[in-house]
Amino acid sequence: MSDCVFCRIIAGQIPSTRVYEDEHTLTFMDIGQVNPGHVLVTVKKHADNLYALDDAQAAAVAHTSARVARAIRDAFKPEGLSVYQANGKAAGQTVFHYHVHLLPRHAADGMELTWPVKNPPREKLEGYAEKIRKQFA
Ligand code: AMP
Ligand code: ZN
Repeated sequence: MSDCVFCRIIAGQIPSTRVYEDEHTLTFMDIGQVNPGHVLVTVKKHADNLYALDDAQAAAVAHTSARVARAIRDAFKPEGLSVYQANGKAAGQTVFHYHVHLLPRHAADGMELTWPVKNPPREKLEGYAEKIRKQFA
């Protein structure tokens, strides 16, 4: 897509700092660098989000993410690493070309994710699970 910033990066039409690529994925440095070593794993063929990935892309992203995560661990020795991936504006997605953030983490690095647990009773869990399971029927 010509108006997609990540498609333009993948096509080499705008600058990026590349770290790894294979048939289906390209990994480059996130321009924002929340912490040093922060990269984005993207799919080469445009997909808006997780829902739009085909099986080959989904498998390739998982494979690349694990490989690049180990390289970041060895290169930067972070205390931790967060894998972050947003789908849709409400989830915080700002670039609508599928990507996974691999983000090296350190104690008190200012990265916050609030996690407002509801701890519902088991019957609620069963109801939620059944709604999802039905989609596979
Ligand atoms: P998200 O909010 O999950 O959609 O993440 C989009 C990410 O893309 C942000 O972390 C931006 O810093 C990053 N980004 C946007 N434009 C560029 C660019 N031209 N090169 C590298 N990273 C970019
Ligand atoms: Zn794109």
